[in-house]
Parts: sequence; C-alpha cells; structure tokens
Amino acid sequence: MEQIYTYGTYLKNKFGVKVYKVGINISGFTCPNIDGTVARGGCTFCENDSFSASTDEVQELKSFHLNLNSKENPYLDKQLKQLEVQFDAISKRQTKEYGAQKFLVYFQSFTNTYAPFETLKALYDKALSFPNVLGLSIGTRSDSITQETLDYLSKLAKEKEIWVEFGIQSVYDETLEKINRGHDSANVKEWILKSKNAGLHVCGHLIFGLPGETQAMMLETSKAAYSWGIDSVKYHPLYVVKKTALANEYARGEFTPINEQEYLEVLVKSILIKPKNVSVQRVTAGIDDDSLLAPQWCRDKNKQIKNINAALKQVGLKY
Ligand code: SF4
Repeated sequence: MEQIYTYGTYLKNKFGVKVYKVGINISGFTCPNIDGTVARGGCTFCENDSFSASTDEVQELKSFHLNLNSKENPYLDKQLKQLEVQFDAISKRQTKEYGAQKFLVYFQSFTNTYAPFETLKALYDKALSFPNVLGLSIGTRSDSITQETLDYLSKLAKEKEIWVEFGIQSVYDETLEKINRGHDSANVKEWILKSKNAGLHVCGHLIFGLPGETQAMMLETSKAAYSWGIDSVKYHPLYVVKKTALANEYARGEFTPINEQEYLEVLVKSILIKPKNVSVQRVTAGIDDDSLLAPQWCRDKNKQIKNINAALKQVGLKY
C-alpha cells in the first residue's frame, strides 16, 4: 500500500520534526464577498450571519471591519495582542498534548490579506517573531491580495516558510456564479501564478459536489489546479449548513448534495491524477453539530476517513 504524500510528510521531511499549524482568528477581518465590496451575503455555502470574526477577547471589535482601503486601524494593538494570546494558548496546548516543537501560524478565518498593508505587515511580522515559528499560512481569496502584500510575502519567503491558501472551488465560471463566489476562475489562476512566481508555496482548496457539477467537471477543476502549480491541496465535499443561501436552495429542492459514494469516487480519481509532488492537506470536511443540514455522512469525520481509506485501498493507496 502506498502512502499518499501528505502535507505533514512534506513538513517533516523539510524540517526534521512534525510541524503544527496554529489556527488564528483575528477580529476585524472580513471578506469582500460579505461586506458589499464584491457582493453581499458571501458564498452560498458560507455561514456568515454575524460576519465579524470577533472573539470573546476583543468585544469592541465586533462591528469593526477592515478592508483594503481602510485609512487607519485604531485596533491594531488589540489585534496584535489577540494574535499573541491565541498563539500562546494553542501552541502550549499542542506542546502539552502532542509534544509539538515547531509551528506555522495559520491565519485561517475570513480573508487574511484583506486589510491595509501596514496592518498585515504588523500581524505577519509579529507571528513570525514567536518562538519556534517556522512560517505562515495565509488563507485568502484571489481577488483580495495586492501586489504590495505579495512582494512583502515574497521577501519573507527568502527566510521563512510562507504559504498562501486560495479557495479555487471550481474552474467553471458558471459554477462560481451559482455559488456567488464574486470572482472568476481566471482571477484565481492569475494570482496563483503570481504567488508561485513570487516564490511562495500555494495550497488550493477544491470543493466537490458544487451545484450542477458532474464528476467530469470536478476532475477538470483538479487538473487545472494541478497545472497551475499548486504545491498542496485540500479537498472538501460541499455540505449544507443552516442560515446559508444554500440551505434555502436545499429546502426548495434545488440542490442535491453529493452522496458519499460519488465523493469517494471523485476523490480517488482526483488523487490518482495528482502530480506526486503535490501534498494533500485534507481529504474531506464536515461538521458534527446542529448546524449541519445535509448530507448526513459529513457528520462523522472518523467514519469518513475510514471509508476514504477503504476506497483508496482498492487502488493501492492509503491516507
Ligand atoms: S470567500 Fe470565504 S469568507 Fe468570504 S463568503 Fe466565501 S467562504 Fe465566506
């Protein structure tokens, strides 16, 4: 049985130890697809009811939202403190529970390049100053990263491990329109290529089971993403959570979620056509709480992984 090349393996080979991602959620960050810059409401599957990424620690930032043109950021000190507090708590827990020694700071929630450059620079620099941090992973949208930010990340990448994570989702513009993505596929390609040229590592997020998509379309998306030179991939099934536009479509019978068998088939096929050097960071997703409407197989992560491994076994692979 051949072990799939995972992101964990990539990091271990490169740094000699297991590296842990520390997921950070900074208040004041939002998304241009929610704040009305590109669209309102966000992607149809995104639960963004209270669209501030505020956490308990920084209540006064609840209605404060940055964007690329924000002239000033009176809350930067609070955001920096929040970053420190979160990193400290999570990294300490990872060290206690798993013996973690090295970390990547993962700017995870919302669009983490969607703020004035000075804010981004301060946050990225601070994250890199923490002990045992090897680098950053920055989740964002391709329409929300500027050349100035890219150039700065490129400079950081000469010494640190710098990743940018882009939501690709689908290579079909008609699908991107259906999910109210707010940008087209050409834009994703453009910024992935620019990021690669800047010497950054790129992770692409793909979703299988988007409205109206056939298996052939999902595989075309995989092929396109691989051909753009992504270094790592996260595969997700599209699931429906409450309080989203997709939940309304589902209730009206206009959207049928991908079933588990279909997901396993397309996942295995996509992995089989994946270049060997592209590491796999995630093979599925789900949520085990009341917010999940469908499909029910997205509830139990352990069972999903077990079934994925059974499907992979048939082609001589394991995750
Ligand atoms: S880009 Fe991300 S945060 Fe923004 S609406 Fe879509 S899923 Fe939500």
